[in-house]
Amino acid sequence: MPNYLKKFIVEPGTKIRFKHFDPDYHGKHESREQALPEIQKYVEKMAQLQYLTYAERKHSLLVVLQGLDAAGKDGVVRHVFTGMNPAGCVVSDFKQPTPEELAHDFLWRVHPHVPAKGSVAIFNRSHYEDVLVVRVHELAPEKVWSKRYDEINEFEKLIATQNQTSILKFFLHISKQEQLARFAKRLDDPARQWKISDSDYKERDYWSNYTEAFEDVLNKTSTERAPWFIIPSNHKWFRDLAISQIIVRQMEDMNMQFPKPTVNLAEIRREYHQATDQEKSDRRKKR
Ligand code: AMP
Ligand code: MG
Repeated sequence: MPNYLKKFIVEPGTKIRFKHFDPDYHGKHESREQALPEIQKYVEKMAQLQYLTYAERKHSLLVVLQGLDAAGKDGVVRHVFTGMNPAGCVVSDFKQPTPEELAHDFLWRVHPHVPAKGSVAIFNRSHYEDVLVVRVHELAPEKVWSKRYDEINEFEKLIATQNQTSILKFFLHISKQEQLARFAKRLDDPARQWKISDSDYKERDYWSNYTEAFEDVLNKTSTERAPWFIIPSNHKWFRDLAISQIIVRQMEDMNMQFPKPTVNLAEIRREYHQATDQEKSDRRKKR
């Protein structure tokens, strides 16, 4: 089994260009059916590891999903995190900021959603929009957004070191043709028509601007503590396989352990499970 964590990580300090990455890559499988048992295995393993995270309450995990429209962010939430217990897993969507959010620094709306110890947080879009859409559409001047890469790195360092948060950031890499094919499917599927927005098509005109903005994001903010992964995402099932494997590998690396019991197990076993009725009754009298 190839190690997708190693294969798709953007090594801190390297300079990537997307033209060197194939969004069609799909490993050894040829179809969702073939890949499904493996995806299933990782999804189940993730569920066990999340249970451990929840029980231990020392670590937490933050998963950031970014990608252009129709890259599959919602699909990852639906297919990869199905095994997680809602008690310890929260998804936050980051849409256009409200006037109140815009009146604050760009991290203000993000900080309350980072994961508490013992939990998993998924960001469907994130603080990275503030160096993506904001940069591409000049929603803030360059002297403002250009400082944000360092500010983001500092912010992620804070939550990683102060709260034992592991951070994994996934860029879902699709081709321009695949995006159009997915939009076309939405047009024909009544269950997906609600997803279509004018801006989806208009944003295609900015494809190369987004490419450049994403390259900068990955080159400036992939760090040891919070690495980026470029996930080939033209095949939805491969995307799910790669992401689920990477999350499992990361969680296994977190070195988590069930907390020690707070009670004396041997005593409880002896007094409540093994004692005869006579012994129990004598004990009650003694109290
Ligand atoms: P969707 O994820 O398709 O529901 O769309 C959400 C929209 O909100 C996208 O067009 C994002 O680019 C936009 N968005 C998210 N964060 C920001 C931000 N900080 N500033 C401006 N637009 C944003
Ligand atoms: Mg959209």
